[in-house]
Amino acid sequence: MRCDEIRELLAGYQDGELDAAQTAQVREHLAGCESCRAELARLERVKEVASKVQYKDLPLEIWEGYWQGVYRRIERGLGWVFASFGAVVLICFGLFHLIRDFFLRPEVSIFAKLGVAGLIAGGAFLLVSLIRERMFAYYRERYREVQR
Ligand SMILES: [Zn+2]
Repeated sequence: MRCDEIRELLAGYQDGELDAAQTAQVREHLAGCESCRAELARLERVKEVASKVQYKDLPLEIWEGYWQGVYRRIERGLGWVFASFGAVVLICFGLFHLIRDFFLRPEVSIFAKLGVAGLIAGGAFLLVSLIRERMFAYYRERYREVQR
């Protein structure tokens, strides 16, 4: 076997993935070939470094992921609190003015009142449906984060 053929088998040889015949061929070649032995040594070093990097960095990544998850949850929670508060204030303010300046005015046509009431009711249903969908997605995501 030529060197370039052996080189292609070296990674498999290193991981013990070759069959018995291939392993014997590689071993035989390595015994008589200095440069392929050097290549195998290089592969061993790469593998060693890769495994060290993995063991050292993995816990850190997990911690970073954990804190990112916590911050994201706090941010999202605060976002919902402020947005809900703002929405409630605006809705109360808007409803108050709408009732006082629109629905209670006798000069406004009953058809305009019915139309606006329909729009508001429809919008409210859509909003509730949207919020429920968002909350469902949010809790499912949290569930996935816990599972990870
Ligand atoms: Zn060789």
